[in-house]
Amino acid sequence: MPLPVFARNPREHAVFSALHMAVVGAGSLGSALIDILARTGVGSLTLIDPEDFAEENIGRHVLTGDSVGKPKVEELRRHVLGINPECHVTAIQARFDVSLLAKTNLIVSTADSFQAASLVNGYALRENVPAVFGGVWGEASVAEIVYVVPRKTPCYECYGAFRRNVVIPPDARRYTDPSFDDTRIPGQAGLWANILIAAGLGFQAILGLMGIRDTLRHPGNVWLMNISDPHCPFQPLALTVGEVKKGCAVCDPMSLEELLSQNLASCPDISQFDPRGEMREDEGEKGLVG
Ligand SMILES: [Zn+2]
Repeated sequence: MPLPVFARNPREHAVFSALHMAVVGAGSLGSALIDILARTGVGSLTLIDPEDFAEENIGRHVLTGDSVGKPKVEELRRHVLGINPECHVTAIQARFDVSLLAKTNLIVSTADSFQAASLVNGYALRENVPAVFGGVWGEASVAEIVYVVPRKTPCYECYGAFRRNVVIPPDARRYTDPSFDDTRIPGQAGLWANILIAAGLGFQAILGLMGIRDTLRHPGNVWLMNISDPHCPFQPLALTVGEVKKGCAVCDPMSLEELLSQNLASCPDISQFDPRGEMREDEGEKGLVG
């Protein structure tokens, strides 16, 4: 007998209650997606994020002042149980590491670090689990959702490898904190309303991946929405679907072999050849959206 909580979405609850999903990153977008998943009735949730909730987070998060100074994942666990006491929630206060995670039906990354997104991508490909990557650009004025179905779509690395080289302003902590993540993007301004649009869009991809909505019929697996940027070339509040060529060495071993054969002449010793170096050279093309 389903809880009255799910009286408005019994069909989605019936499917979601049997699923285990992981969310990596419990910042603004992660918190909104966790809230949505809880209200849809997901059966099990694993939440992974290293940070404590701070006052500066309150204006753009589902948590409130009561949570300041406490681990985001623990507080979100409490939040989820307040919506659905039957949800099995595992809160892990740490940076993402594949060893932290048992088999899931779906993994979501909203981490503001390319390193973390890349690790989630590796987990998804290895475990053959679909993944959704969510983020926002600028002051949360453009939403970006990338979904990955292992062996079927291009992976996150195919699309986002150019981000390895994005220049992030230096942070003094890199010299003092040995575990400081250099690929982490610093916090930016941006409205909660825009985050909610991005989270709602990401959830449409999740519905498609779980097979209960026909939302993945577009040929590309990169979704971009111009929420409030007057200078953005994308039509306001419409979905722009980006085409990405499958072909990074991470998700497509054939392309690794091709790269190797192309490079054998200039680099006869295979052990000396770094395919990732090759990938980085044509990043411009791969980062483009159609
Ligand atoms: Zn790939």
